[in-house]
Amino acid sequence: MRFFCWFLFCFTTTFALAAKPGAIVFDLDDTLFDTNFRTLEILHEIGATHVPQLSQLVTLEYPQVNFFCSVTCRNAGISDAGLIDEVCGNPGKGTLETALWGQKFFSPDYLKYDHVISGAPTFVARAKQETGASIIYLTGRSGKDNRKATEAQLRYFGFPNPGEDGTVLILKGPQDSPSDLVYKTVALDELLQNYRIIGALDDSKDNANMFRSKLASSIPVIRPNRNVADRAGLSPGISQITTYYYNVAIDSSGNRTVVPNSDILEGFLADAKAANAAP
Ligand SMILES: [Mg+2]
Repeated sequence: MRFFCWFLFCFTTTFALAAKPGAIVFDLDDTLFDTNFRTLEILHEIGATHVPQLSQLVTLEYPQVNFFCSVTCRNAGISDAGLIDEVCGNPGKGTLETALWGQKFFSPDYLKYDHVISGAPTFVARAKQETGASIIYLTGRSGKDNRKATEAQLRYFGFPNPGEDGTVLILKGPQDSPSDLVYKTVALDELLQNYRIIGALDDSKDNANMFRSKLASSIPVIRPNRNVADRAGLSPGISQITTYYYNVAIDSSGNRTVVPNSDILEGFLADAKAANAAP
């Protein structure tokens, strides 16, 4: 009887472990897609239609665009705080998604302006093929508004398609926390019940730190970042990339250094593959 119980315990435990497929989690915006092109188009439109017209935004150029709309406006030469709030919204006032920029940025109509981050489709395909893992896209985009457009966007750029071969697309639902960090922390906890997460990529510093703290140190975590020399507030054990071909480091004087980063990306694939093969 005892042998049978031990056998049953070992069998069920082994089966439970084996039953969990390996998976790699990819964020979308600014991890696989460059959303600065989306913001560029949006601010051109706002500049042209605002009364009075905002010529600084009409003539905005890509290098002036920052992850934060407010920084982009200041880069364009707009210094009026009230006007920046009107255009960009203010997180402290809860107007980020309802102001002029947010209404368009979070709309599926503007996803078509995104560019892919160089090399991203090939890297995701390699991650799927070479590690044998499932691909999970975990994004803070609203599922209510953006699911079809996001699926079309992934298909257009040649990423593994959601719904095929274990590839999954998770978008934010109405019941999820408005905080991206809380939403993704809860989502990761739920994913860990069904998957062995063997790698994660997210451009958000807070999200990357969260993945690093919740996953074993042997599991690779990458944060895409336009300036890999900037590690302020980033936990140790997180690699940074700029694109899937090269890294950009910008020093305090503004000097840019561009170097290949294949060692980081090949290391990620090797570590993830080893994690997926581990018992
Ligand atoms: Mg992101």
